[in-house]
Order: sequence, then C-alpha cells, then structure tokens
Amino acid sequence: MNDPTIAADPNMARRIADNWQAVLDDVQQAARAAGRDRADIQIVGVTKYVGVEATAALLAAGCHQLGESRPQQLWQKAEAAELGASVHWHLIGHLQTNKVRRTLQYRPTIHSVDSSRLLRAIDTEAAARQIEVPVLLEVNVSGDASKTGLPADVLEPMLAEHRRGRESGAAGAQLRGLMAMAGWGSSAPEARRQFAQLRQLRDHLQRQTGIAFPELSMGMSGDFVEAIAEGATLVRIGSRLFAGVGSVGR
Ligand SMILES: *Cc1c(COP(=O)(O)O)cnc(C)c1O
Repeated sequence: MNDPTIAADPNMARRIADNWQAVLDDVQQAARAAGRDRADIQIVGVTKYVGVEATAALLAAGCHQLGESRPQQLWQKAEAAELGASVHWHLIGHLQTNKVRRTLQYRPTIHSVDSSRLLRAIDTEAAARQIEVPVLLEVNVSGDASKTGLPADVLEPMLAEHRRGRESGAAGAQLRGLMAMAGWGSSAPEARRQFAQLRQLRDHLQRQTGIAFPELSMGMSGDFVEAIAEGATLVRIGSRLFAGVGSVGR
C-alpha cells in the first residue's frame, strides 16, 4: 500500500516533523503580518502525494486535519489502522454523486461542492444519516477554463434553492463557506487578488442571505501567505509538508 521508497527512508518521520514545524512558523508569521488571530486559521495537511506511513508521520507530528483529493484515497486512509480515530478528514477534490454515501461514512468536511446536484445528494444522505456535514462551495475565481468550481453568478440562486430544499431539522449539508484555487501560473499579486475576490464574494453572499459563511478555504503551499492576508480560515498544504520525502517533489 505504501510507496516502498518512502517506507524505507529512516529519516522520513523527522523530515515531515521538521516540515510541519516550518509550516506552523510560516502560518504564525503570516497571521501576525495580517493582524489576524492564528487560532482562526486551520492547516489542512494534504496527503494525496503519500501513502499511509508518511500520512501517519504527519499525524504524529501534530497535524490532525488531513485532506485528500480523491474519494477512494480518503476511504482507504480513513480505514487504515495506523491513522486511528483522531483525524478529521477533508475532501478537497471532485466528488461524484455515486460516491457520496461511502464518503459520508467518514464524516469529512467537503471543500469541493461544485454543483447543485452534488449539494442535494450530500444533503439528502446526511439527513438520512442524521448527521451534519460541513460543506464549502468551490468557486472558480480565476476564470481559468481548466479550473474546477462554480462560476460566481450561480451561487445566489443555488443557495436559495438549497434553503428551500431543507426547511426541516439540523441534519444535512451545513454550508460553511467558499473554497477556491488561484489560477494556474498566477503571480503572488494575482493570487492575492483572486483570494480577495473570494472574500468579497463571501461577504456579498452573507449580506444577501443573512447566513454566516465563516470559512474561506484558500491557499496552498505556494500561496498560503497571500491567502492568509486575505482572510483564509483553512489553508490546504501538501507539497511543503512532504518536501524531501521519497518521491514527492521530483
Ligand atoms: C493538491 C491540492 C492542494 C495542495 O497543494 P500543494 O501545492 O501541494 O500544497 C491544495 N488544494 C487542492 C484542491 C489540491 O488538489
């Protein structure tokens, strides 16, 4: 199940712990520079590049919020005995509606809701299970045709439809905020402008609907400082955490 080149590396756990510490320091510094409370920013360690062993090393280093972009990989890791029950999982990549049921077994936060149909499927399944599933709407702020996510102008009608659909009870999909990625090849100022756009969109939706959307999931290894400057509450960091480990960062 693990990449043997990773499993054979005796320094792996040490490297990952050092990388985690460096990311913690950088996030702390970015928060301070932005005049923000560090406690308002959660780091999601993105483990899609590595197997169970390296993922367990990150957990042991202190990162309990773990993200996967493929549902099957999330299932596989969520069931790995080495990772135990202290992980909160985040699904950050596309979810097909036929994988909703199995995915909700692991009670993840879902960052990547990109259609009304998927939102309805999550809501229905969560209500049937009597659980609350935190979800974020993924928005295409960069305008890249190649990027995933909803165009900004469909969000308001989508939220209105979602509210009509779920008058009863607390169980279901709990809309917590928005997620975005900066466009491919964006410079730091361009990425920052796109993150500012996502925040403004969130603020606008809050005003229009009267509902709080506290979470902004934005920022990855290369641009989390810009994202924190613009209000990110969840940063999704992968390659920085696994630099120097096995085959990552080739
Ligand atoms: C892979 C991935 C990340 C992490 O990216 P890094 O640049 O490796 O930190 C974050 N968000 C999403 C949606 C991803 O697919």
